[in-house]
Amino acid sequence: MRTSIATVSISGDLGEKLEAIAAAGFDGVEIFENDLLTFGESPAEVRARAADLGLAITLFQPFRDFEGMPEPLRSRAFDRARYKFELMNELGTDLMLVCSNVSPLALGGIDRAAADFHELGDIASSAGVRVGYEALAWGRHVNDHRDAWEIVRRADHAHVGLILDSFHTLARNIDSNTIRSIPGDKIFIVQLADAPLIDMDLLYWSRHFRNMPGEGDLPVVDFMRAVAATGYAGPLSLEIFNDQFRGGSPAAIAIDGKRSLVYLMDQVRRAEPDLAVVGIPMPPRIDVEGFAFVEFATDASERHQLDTLLRTLGFSQAGRHRSKDVTLYRQNEINIVVNTEKTGLARASYLTHGTSAYAIGLMTADVRATVDRAGALGAQMFEQPVAEGDFEIPAIRGVGGGLIYFLDGQSDLARVWDVEFELQLDRGARPAGLTHIDHVAQTMNYDEMLTWVLFYRSIFAVRKSPMVDVLDPGGIIRSQVIDNASGTLRLTLNGADSGRTFAGRFVSKTFGSGIQHLAFATSDIFATADAVAGAGLSPLRISANYYTDLQARLGLDQLAIDRLQVRNILYDRDQQGEFFQFYTPTIGEGFFIEVLERRGVYTGYGAVNAPFRIAAQKRAMRGQSSA
Ligand code: MG
Ligand code: MG
Repeated sequence: MRTSIATVSISGDLGEKLEAIAAAGFDGVEIFENDLLTFGESPAEVRARAADLGLAITLFQPFRDFEGMPEPLRSRAFDRARYKFELMNELGTDLMLVCSNVSPLALGGIDRAAADFHELGDIASSAGVRVGYEALAWGRHVNDHRDAWEIVRRADHAHVGLILDSFHTLARNIDSNTIRSIPGDKIFIVQLADAPLIDMDLLYWSRHFRNMPGEGDLPVVDFMRAVAATGYAGPLSLEIFNDQFRGGSPAAIAIDGKRSLVYLMDQVRRAEPDLAVVGIPMPPRIDVEGFAFVEFATDASERHQLDTLLRTLGFSQAGRHRSKDVTLYRQNEINIVVNTEKTGLARASYLTHGTSAYAIGLMTADVRATVDRAGALGAQMFEQPVAEGDFEIPAIRGVGGGLIYFLDGQSDLARVWDVEFELQLDRGARPAGLTHIDHVAQTMNYDEMLTWVLFYRSIFAVRKSPMVDVLDPGGIIRSQVIDNASGTLRLTLNGADSGRTFAGRFVSKTFGSGIQHLAFATSDIFATADAVAGAGLSPLRISANYYTDLQARLGLDQLAIDRLQVRNILYDRDQQGEFFQFYTPTIGEGFFIEVLERRGVYTGYGAVNAPFRIAAQKRAMRGQSSA
């Protein structure tokens, strides 16, 4: 599989783009004409630069409004093409993209277009280059790859071929299977892009909202399966017009792009076992059985707040690490590790972000397979020196530079608590009925969300929910759920684009993205609420207005409302079940814990309650700062 990406997909000047594209491991690059024209170097210099970086120039684009023009525009179009072919020779690329004509002056007619292309093929041939024809979804007469293919077929010229672009085909709901009858050697290049399903003008949607395969909602896998069936063996080239990407980090976006192609071909390979699909061999997506632990980094002076919080929530101090300043708290299946070491990543993390949940441990079926898959998808492995007698638990870097450790039940790693910890019985502990971690909520800048959606979806067997907007008095937070069908892995990603939101404040105060809350499950929220109140925890105070509204909205009786309100429990229900939740006060720079109960098969997260929770947290924050 040869990979390529269009320069238009990422930010920076052409030099920066080429560096980032090479660093991410692409084989080639499509040069967008404007990137070349606005750069301070000649085409020959750019050619040398790409060669030094080991990048092939797969395509020069775009050439517009060519076919079907009346004279004198027709002759002028051919003159333009001759000039561009010369430039391509200097640049060192042999393929030009001609997109279907959008000019109101274009005459239409398949044979006329085919004749124009045949003549262009002759000129291209004498210049030693080829031209590929792409149907734009909004082309004046040609807006469907089937018509573009018919023109290429009738042009019948070795230097004229077809260019397929998943966006143009899928945006118009054209059946990808129609690609299967096109000869692979007449497809000169395949461009790939995904997009979120939004009902809007095609041109605007395409120019601003495309994203990497796997980040959006289009059936790009089906498209690519059809392409694979033709025997096409050329480069797979990302062409992503996206406002966020053009404003984002070129290095990070290029890495996402490479990951998206590797993941796409992994899916195609699995779906088409009879085709010789080229991809990187790797184990299938990883099933996560649950959260094995969450680890906090803190400091001797700040850990008291965290200890108190865990104590009042009914955790017992279950063990001390044999050689490190690390304590294990436990309640039923929940393991919380508190790390106050003065060296290593925990320390670095504390110094940068303050007290924070910087690592999670996931229980998988097979750690080896997990590491292999994550590695094949370009995840960054994490290693630090391990003390004698300690396990080396495999880990990768996740959101905000935090860690995701992997454990399984079949290797020695299953014994980590017994081997590394001096387990003890905590006689003072009074459990509050918390059973397991329901979800982990990660807060990030909005423009990182697609990166992490792709990261989780490509490595783990999880799905993504539609993005929902949560209203914060200071702005909007986009929230997206990543979970598996069995509910053993649930992550909520919250994207903030304003420092004035509660989530945005967390990102700026902690110098980056990270885990902002953990949700623990109980099977009796009322008993748990009473137990933690008895232990001295004052939950986040929810306004009386919330309960008045709840009563009106859902028709609960006064007794039920009182039971909720006196404990500051928020409530939601749907066709299949009920949901109860309350929150602890925040610690550090805005970290908090949620306690919840699901009854029936309620699979949501109480999104309707989030604005009330956020408003209450902001009130509490103001109360703290004025006290
Ligand atoms: Mg295209
Ligand atoms: Mg939550």
